[in-house]
Amino acid sequence: MHPLSTIAHMPRSPIRRIYERAIQMDDVVFFSLGEPDFDTPQQAVEEAVRSLRRGETRYTPNAGLPELRRAAAASLLEYDRVSYDPETEICVTSGGMEALALALLTLIEPGDEVIITDPSYTNYRDQIQICKGVPVYVPVREEDGFQYRPDELRRAITDRTRVIMINTPANPTGGIASRKLLEEIASIAVERDLFVLFDEVYKHIYYDDEPFFSIAAAPGMRERTLVIDSCSKAYAMTGWRVGWIAGPAEIVTCVPKLQENLCSCVPAFVQRGAVCALETAGEDARRMARAYRERRDFIVSAVNAIPGLSAREPKGAFYLFVNIRRSGLTSEDFAMRLLEEARVALSPGSAFGPSGEGYARISYATSMDALREGAARIGAFMRRLRGDK
Ligand code: PLP
Repeated sequence: MHPLSTIAHMPRSPIRRIYERAIQMDDVVFFSLGEPDFDTPQQAVEEAVRSLRRGETRYTPNAGLPELRRAAAASLLEYDRVSYDPETEICVTSGGMEALALALLTLIEPGDEVIITDPSYTNYRDQIQICKGVPVYVPVREEDGFQYRPDELRRAITDRTRVIMINTPANPTGGIASRKLLEEIASIAVERDLFVLFDEVYKHIYYDDEPFFSIAAAPGMRERTLVIDSCSKAYAMTGWRVGWIAGPAEIVTCVPKLQENLCSCVPAFVQRGAVCALETAGEDARRMARAYRERRDFIVSAVNAIPGLSAREPKGAFYLFVNIRRSGLTSEDFAMRLLEEARVALSPGSAFGPSGEGYARISYATSMDALREGAARIGAFMRRLRGDK
């Protein structure tokens, strides 16, 4: 095989295609972007500016500033109830995205299998392939809240399986994994000697009564879990590019070696802004999460009131995974026609894996006005579509 083949043959995401068409058009309601519409809390911005003015314009340690590692460890202790040593068990990364890539590069050898849900965040599949691993989809279903079934997970495990990836709350479905399910997956991981990559970048946007649970807190899991976290979603800091990996020292001390060879470090002023967010922006994060919850309540009932569409109430993140099967269209046709005919941009479910066919993802990280207008347009589109038949 030509050495470029993995990258050269990587398909272009239909999400991108729809987005690129949408930005050429006027008067589009965007439900496609997976990022908060809020501004970063002002104190984090001010702190980053002060850092630059202080002259913090040089490299930092590859693993990140000690202050950020300490702040991340304190946050993990508070929310995940797992204690990490900031010296050896946390590495700062360029967002959750680089954290995922570095974690995979550290854990897998070429040909190793990595289990992911189908559907899942599109970058999982691509990153596993970039790291020369083999993504193995395990379908998840609407009636299970889009969570793994432990028996199916067991059946997907082979001699080549190295990692199970878990994303809770999940993109694109808004599903969350219960503590009971995570404990069952933990016992499978221990029994089969597997690692878990636990992506919790949406953990602050969480609407369930059962408290958030980190799989690293389950028996036998701390030593086999790499936690992926980031400032992007919780603190509306997507463009800052700052996140971290937390896990056992044996693994996490290898990660800065990769960081040294990739981007060296996250810029110092960005890290200072992240320390400030972690230490002072808890109330801002809660305010934003309350706004997402209100928007969720609105969009769930608006979508369920449209004949031909239905959606389960998401328990976290800011995505609604809408069942569009009764439209009779494929998810890509649905997304493209909705854009062309009703000027609403959303993401086709099939972009997130074969089991996403029959669904469309609405990101409700947008204003109530946009949600009202978008829901009205989708309703009118569905009425025309059903009238056409
Ligand atoms: N993990 C999931 C599930 C995501 O949806 C995203 C972004 O959309 C990320 C990780 C990466 O986010 P960032 O790199 O901005 O921290």
